[in-house]
Amino acid sequence: MPNSPVVPEVKLNNQVEIPQIGFGVYKIDDAKAAEVIGWAFEAGYRSIDTATIYENEKGVGQAVRESGIAREDIFVTSKLWRDDMGYDSALRAFDTSMDKLGLDYLDLYLIHWPSPDPQLYLDSWRALEKLYADGRVRAIGVSNFLPANLEVLAEASEVTPVLNQIEYHPALQQVEIAQYCDAHGIAIEAWSPLARGEVFESPVIVEIAERYGKTPAQVVLRWHLQEGRIIIPKSGNKQRIAENIDILDFELSDDEMLGVTGLEAGLRIGPDPSATTYQG
Ligand code: NAD
Repeated sequence: MPNSPVVPEVKLNNQVEIPQIGFGVYKIDDAKAAEVIGWAFEAGYRSIDTATIYENEKGVGQAVRESGIAREDIFVTSKLWRDDMGYDSALRAFDTSMDKLGLDYLDLYLIHWPSPDPQLYLDSWRALEKLYADGRVRAIGVSNFLPANLEVLAEASEVTPVLNQIEYHPALQQVEIAQYCDAHGIAIEAWSPLARGEVFESPVIVEIAERYGKTPAQVVLRWHLQEGRIIIPKSGNKQRIAENIDILDFELSDDEMLGVTGLEAGLRIGPDPSATTYQG
């Protein structure tokens, strides 16, 4: 595919490299996934973020297999859902995901949510460690883990998660989690990096967008890149899919970066991992 942008890569703590811009496929219907991901490949994405609970692993696998792109040039992430937590059930859930994907290996497997019972996510983590040791997945990590959850893993396991996928955008910068992860070599992968559009009308964003002839979405995503975060914006719209990766030809100044950082508002798009009612 000609003219694909060269997306920077982030080297994870096990030396595996992940594209800094990936394509999130939450709420993309399984039947449409192959077509939509085809648009993403055309636009230059080489990393796809799915999960068991998104119920589109079949379409994701089809898109990867039919892309005409070498398997090793595509980075595929999936996640263990909370109903499947535990050692044996995690191994079974991984097998089910791989059957649906129809791929020989996964690039990254994440625990989607910590459960309130540390033993349960520790047992799940041991299953992920086995999958990693067996070469079935190139890297393992977590999602929505608080520093306390990460400490449990650090004290009782061998492998440090390569990344923690958390809600992260200008209006919710999760300073405490980010500081912990930065200090322990755990990359941050931002989910809802666009805050699902909630900050697009902010005058700070609009003004920067006008200055560079870019859209608010592009300004927000560019801010993430310069913060060093991995992003997985989602869209089902071909033009926006292309727009969200077209962020490599401009740079925010230090003042502009500070301006966007100043939009912290404690605004949550998704559930709060510290609200134990959500965890299962
Ligand atoms: P997002 O911040 O990526 O926003 C997506 C929405 O913003 C789209 O549905 C669309 O309405 C709008 N949008 C996208 N591009 C746009 C553009 N260029 N201009 C205007 N509007 C635009 O939010 P998300 O989908 O919640 O998150 C992205 C990905 O993160 C998901 O697809 C999924 O892969 C992952 N995720 C993970 C978790 C988790 O618990 N680990 C939770 C939520 C999402």
